[in-house]
Parts: sequence; structure tokens; C-alpha cells
Amino acid sequence: MRKIGIYGKGGIGKSTTTQNMAAAMAVSFKKKVMIHGCDPKADATRMIMGGMSQATVLDTLREFGKENVTLDKVVSEGFAGVRGVESGGPEPGVGCAGRGIITAIDLMEELGGYPDDLEFLFYDVLGDVVCGGFAMPMRQGKAQEIYIVTSGEMMAIYAANNISKGLTKYANRSGIRLGGIICNSRNVDRERELIEEFCDRIGTQMIYFVPRDNMVQKAEFNKKTVMEYNSDCNQAQEYENLAQRIIENENFVIPEPIMKMDDLEQLVVKYGID
Ligand code: ADP
Ligand code: MG
Repeated sequence: MRKIGIYGKGGIGKSTTTQNMAAAMAVSFKKKVMIHGCDPKADATRMIMGGMSQATVLDTLREFGKENVTLDKVVSEGFAGVRGVESGGPEPGVGCAGRGIITAIDLMEELGGYPDDLEFLFYDVLGDVVCGGFAMPMRQGKAQEIYIVTSGEMMAIYAANNISKGLTKYANRSGIRLGGIICNSRNVDRERELIEEFCDRIGTQMIYFVPRDNMVQKAEFNKKTVMEYNSDCNQAQEYENLAQRIIENENFVIPEPIMKMDDLEQLVVKYGID
């Protein structure tokens, strides 16, 4: 089983990309896939499940107590047999969301919630804060490979660079590696070149450039992945290509993040000026 962490700034498209890619893996490549949402927003499996019906691990834990958390309460199967579980979060303003993620992953392991025949397990993790809790899936081999979703926007690249810094701290001990950067386009000027240079600088690859397409929203309004909503459209093909790139990927590195904020800014500005 390949255990994959998808990281990136909030709102950059982690859940959208993960679900659409997972659907493509299941439909076009007949892979057994599961998504574990590690964002307190708990919407990492909404399009796979056709809505946010699922109880989160942490809600169930609070409501029923640890001994009463069972897999049938928190794990669901959705489109094309893709499985999903959501960690959920603490009550707003109380407790630590990072710690909650640790609890939820540990509990899933204890319960045997990741079946043996699974081929791809995706952890969909918020990356604005790279505290110990959110870095959790990177530690102790919970995830073995990481992909970072970014666009050409400054704050998204800033987050991507920070996540790379976090990764380097665990790489030697846990063996975790960066598999590449997924550029989820925001139609920023010269975005592809900018991200390619960023990847060069930190020693990784841009594994795929996902175009921005309104079909994503249309499918989302219908609580569906693009593959389910309209499997013939161009964007479905894009997600299939991304899925294939990930399946075939053999480029795993310990990145060398940009250490000075000034250098990072200069990189972005260089592509923004002309
Ligand atoms: P995250 O999980 O990183 O917080 P989401 O996956 O929820 O971000 O994405 C935020 C919004 O961006 C979604 O509502 C989605 O409609 C939109 N979005 C993401 N990727 C694309 C894309 N390639 N084309 C168009 N819209 C997109
Ligand atoms: Mg999300």
C-alpha cells in the first residue's frame, strides 16, 4: 500500500484534487483507494460520498466514547468504491486540531480501518500550520510520500516551501520523501514556468499542472467528482493524467527548501514583472 500525504495551503485545492484523482485512479486504473481527511473542515470526501453525511472520528469519539467508535460509524464507501474517513476537529476555540489528527489516525490503525487490499491511502492535510500535529502524517511513516498542491500565488508557494521545511525535519528518521509539486492553476501569469523554477530550486519535480476549469465547480455543486459528473470532459482527462503520473512516479527526494523569505519573494516577483 502506498501511503500518500497531500499537503498545501487552505483553499488551494487539496480536497478537490485528491478526490478527483482518487476517482480517476479507481475508474481508469482499477485501483483500491481510500482518503483520510485530516482537515478540521471535514470536507475531504464530500464529492466521493455525494454529500457530507459522514460522522467524523473526533465527533464520534466525543459522542460515544472510545470503546464505541466502530469502523461502520466512521468509514464510508463512495463513488467507484473509494473509501473515506474524516478526522474532524476539536470544538472551535477549544483544544488542538493537530492533536486531534494524531488521535484519529491512531484510532483508525487500532481498528484496522485501512484494509490490507488497499493500494493507495491519501491523507488530505491542511498545511498553513506545520505544527507537530499537522505534520503527524509525515512522522513515524504514517505517510511515505508527500505531494504539495500549490498555485503561482505567493502565499501558496510560501506554504509549499514551509511544508518542505517541515518534511526535511522528519525525512531521515521516518524515510518520508517528496514526490513532487502539483500545480493547481489559478491562471497566474507564467504560472507553469514559475512553479517549474520553484521545483528546480527545491530539488523536486512539478508532477502535473492541473488547469483551472469551471467543470470542477459544476461537478462540485452536484456533490460529484468530475469523473462521475462528466467523464468525457477535458478536466476528467486531466485528472486521469495526474493519476497516472502519481501511479508511475519514481522521483522521491528530500527537498532543499528556500531558506530566506527574500529569495522566495524575488522568485515570485521575477515572473510577475513582465
Ligand atoms: P483545500 O482542500 O485545499 O482547502 P478545496 O479542494 O476545498 O481546497 O478547493 C477550494 C475550491 O477551489 C473548491 O471549492 C473548488 O471548487 C475550487 N477548485 C479547486 N481546484 C480547481 C480547479 N482545478 N478548477 C476550478 N476550481 C477549482
Ligand atoms: Mg480540503
